[in-house]
Amino acid sequence: MIVGVPKEIKNHEYRVGLAPAAVQEFVNCGHEVLVQTSAGASIGFTDELYVNAGAKIIQTPEEIFAKADMIVKVKEPQPNECKMLRKGQTLYTYLHLAPDPTQTKLLVESGATCIAYETVTDSRGTLPLLAPMSEVAGRMSIQAGAHYLEKAHGGSGTLLGGVPGVAPGKVLIIGGGVVGLNAAKMAMGLGADVTILDRSLNRLRELDDIFEGRLATVFSTADAIDYYSSRADLVIGAVLVPGAAAPKLLNGEHIKNMKPGSVLVDVAIDQGGCFETSRATTHQDPVYIIDDVVHYCVANMPGGVARTSTMALNNATLPFGLALANKGPKQAMLDDPHLLNGLNVHNGIVTYKAVVDALGEKL
Ligand code: NAD
Repeated sequence: MIVGVPKEIKNHEYRVGLAPAAVQEFVNCGHEVLVQTSAGASIGFTDELYVNAGAKIIQTPEEIFAKADMIVKVKEPQPNECKMLRKGQTLYTYLHLAPDPTQTKLLVESGATCIAYETVTDSRGTLPLLAPMSEVAGRMSIQAGAHYLEKAHGGSGTLLGGVPGVAPGKVLIIGGGVVGLNAAKMAMGLGADVTILDRSLNRLRELDDIFEGRLATVFSTADAIDYYSSRADLVIGAVLVPGAAAPKLLNGEHIKNMKPGSVLVDVAIDQGGCFETSRATTHQDPVYIIDDVVHYCVANMPGGVARTSTMALNNATLPFGLALANKGPKQAMLDDPHLLNGLNVHNGIVTYKAVVDALGEKL
């Protein structure tokens, strides 16, 4: 099969569908890989590294889309990319179609087979191609929080780890899933005083086991949120209610009651945010201050560490990508119901129920 890797064209998107190491895996299986020139250059994946991995460097996206049997990307295709897709071609990338009727219509019109990373499942019922980005965002959330707690960045001037003789900063993590666990690991590593809230008692039990009681696990009630948010130096919003907008767990009153110079990192901003005062920000302009509380609400946090994120994403997407190339998309999906769950559009039809339900008449 011919696998095509175009350069990402969304604003400030530096990730790339396949890193050189992943290209080599495809080449070793007998596939031809076409990579657009400079597709990974800004994160250190030079054309030379791709050539050494066995790729052929191509100058234009048009040529890649025209020649490849399967296009591997990171972000959803932009309208001009959708128009280059064709029947019989496979697109393997994040799609997020439910809120996006324009893209959905264009993919339907293309006739291509479109597999969305975000709906591929695994035997535990989780989403294995979303998890790496939650791991990245969870770890970054503490880095970002520690940075903005510094006085020069608008914070209270608190060092999360404290020093001998000075108590550590208090970190409250709301939501103990993939983001929450990874935030907790970083915060614990810095020596902070960490409390994690979740609605799932089973999850709190797991977290208590993982950290052997070194952090506080607390059942998430309105009362617990009132109490712990008013004492925290840093609050991480990491909740997810599948299929729904994030619940607003901190309101304007909570923010007023927080310590001056404390920091909120709303990782759940991509689902609308879990603080009433949150609005999406960018890596170029990541924070704003309300009632003396610094808000960091970057909607695509993994993009800030595009090199690590590309490799983490590739680790998760590679086995499915190889199956698609080695067996052909039809057989690969017949053999693996979890990969089949990734199929969103095929041959001019939307095949994923949640997208049909969300878009209905807009299609
Ligand atoms: P997850 O499903 O692994 O975990 C979510 C957790 O929230 C679950 O343990 C659940 O029990 C808990 N929860 C639900 N309601 C709660 C409540 N009222 N109080 C406390 N806990 C509650 O999800 P995840 O992968 O950790 O993702 C968390 C959020 O981060 C999602 O909204 C995801 O889209 C977002 N995310 C954002 C970025 C970004 O760049 N901003 C990147 C990755 C993920």
